Amino acid sequence: MSVAPDRVCVVVGRTRHKMIQAETTEAVKRGGKFVELRLDFLAKAVDFKRLLSSKQCPWMATIRRPQDGGRWPGSEEERQTVLRQAIVSGGFDWVDLETDIADKIRRFGPVKRVISYHNMIETPADLEGIYGAMLKQDADVYKIAVMAQTMEDNARILALMRSAPKPTVAFCMGDLGFPTRFLALKYGAPWLYAAFNRERGLAPGMPAVEDLRTTYPVRMIDAATMIYGLLGDPVEQSFSPVLHNHMFRRNKLNALYLPFRVPKDQLTEALRTYGTVPVNGYSVTIPHKEAAAALTTDHDLTVRITHAANTLLRRPDGTFAADNTDFTAIVDCLEAHLAERAAKGLTAQLNQLFVMILGAGGAARAVAHALHARKAHVYISARTSERATKLSTEIGGKVVDWQGRHNVLPCDVVINCTPVGMHPNTDESPVHHSFLKPEMTVFDTVYSPENTMLVREAKSRGCLVITGVDMFVRQAARQFELFTGIAPPLETMRELLRKAMSPVTRALDEVSESGEGTANA
Ligand code: NAP
Repeated sequence: MSVAPDRVCVVVGRTRHKMIQAETTEAVKRGGKFVELRLDFLAKAVDFKRLLSSKQCPWMATIRRPQDGGRWPGSEEERQTVLRQAIVSGGFDWVDLETDIADKIRRFGPVKRVISYHNMIETPADLEGIYGAMLKQDADVYKIAVMAQTMEDNARILALMRSAPKPTVAFCMGDLGFPTRFLALKYGAPWLYAAFNRERGLAPGMPAVEDLRTTYPVRMIDAATMIYGLLGDPVEQSFSPVLHNHMFRRNKLNALYLPFRVPKDQLTEALRTYGTVPVNGYSVTIPHKEAAAALTTDHDLTVRITHAANTLLRRPDGTFAADNTDFTAIVDCLEAHLAERAAKGLTAQLNQLFVMILGAGGAARAVAHALHARKAHVYISARTSERATKLSTEIGGKVVDWQGRHNVLPCDVVINCTPVGMHPNTDESPVHHSFLKPEMTVFDTVYSPENTMLVREAKSRGCLVITGVDMFVRQAARQFELFTGIAPPLETMRELLRKAMSPVTRALDEVSESGEGTANA
């Protein structure tokens, strides 16, 4: 039996009593069942009577010192006095006491105790010793929150959490440590901390309640939950967690998809660290696509051709098989589009089309090789001409000077494989609108936003258009199939992605917490 009132501890920290009351009430309305009040945020002396009048679920009292990431402005003696007042007030079900003061504050009545250790700077060398000493103290739950500076820090906290002999919530803070907060639940942590209000800066890397509602269904996480994720840097802007987690739930799979921020040159270390979980499959993005292809010998043809992998699948022996679903998605996008060209009486055989690729990076490599395999006539134009020359030599294409890209003739298809036009630079386009002709197909691989300036200008000049959303959905769908064996409906995924990307609503449905997800991926 878990000691926890809920698997999510909603953290509320505001400077005014009135706002604490409003947020705790709203938290319960939105399904919160356990609230931690960060009393150190209050600008005035705590008025327990006033606060407790709005209590609707179990509460935990916490007063953090600045060195532990809190805002308590007073003396330590005053802080401990307020903590004792909270304990005897009769309103709090839990109290959080730091390990160095916990022995000075006696257990009182039914109030349960979290004994905590925070380190806002690092994961200390003697972490295991600190935890060992804490375990001798009188607590119902032990909490360790330390800053991740390296992948090794994550590895150590996961090892500690995995072998915790008593109820423990141990995780790394910071964006590097983000996944460890969720993985702790898989190893039996009683709850995960989530900020009611994203803007309050309660702790580095803490997810918001809203993130759990739309993206990470945590209440179903247990030891059997299969873990998947995204390796890249940055990863926080990615829509992959939304898509994959929704599809897991729709297919009733006990699986969770997490973003793993992995700095350049730390891919091998990250795979070793998360291999202990294990993570069963990864999407791979910038800057790791080429390194991911290089570290495995089990290559799909798409990887052999492009020398880049956007998917890694764990094999039973712990090594990985690599795939490049960008490649497949590009081919599928173009082939699905050819019927549209044919319907307009335009050339619709790839081997008869003249295609200009803008850019010579990872996406361009996949596009160029896919087109070469289908015998299209390819021009490559990139601002770094050496990269364009290298790629065009590989595929027997032609290099077009970046300055001369508007002079290419004939040109049936333009494919943007640069980030030009991507959020936040949405008023930029890689080609001048006068270049765009009604009989052209314009394929913009940028998907955020979907309606880039290039897409808008192409539509207004009567071009046929393929958007980056179409490509993103197809590569994610193929990846989901590789992860689970289930081919998801493209239209459902397209709809999910568009909703998630909507700047107005971000109107994603709740990720179902119905507990139906009992099968393993
Ligand atoms: P990448 O490997 O970094 O390559 C980017 C290419 O764009 C390079 O040739 C780079 O030139 C060029 N470039 C960058 N900024 C430029 C600028 N301001 N003007 C002109 N050229 C510029 O990146 P990637 O993995 O190929 O991704 C490129 C884009 O493809 C991404 O931004 C993303 O939107 C899109 N993409 C979409 C999907 C999807 O599913 N829809 C999947 C993958 C990628 P230098 O070599 O000179 O830097």
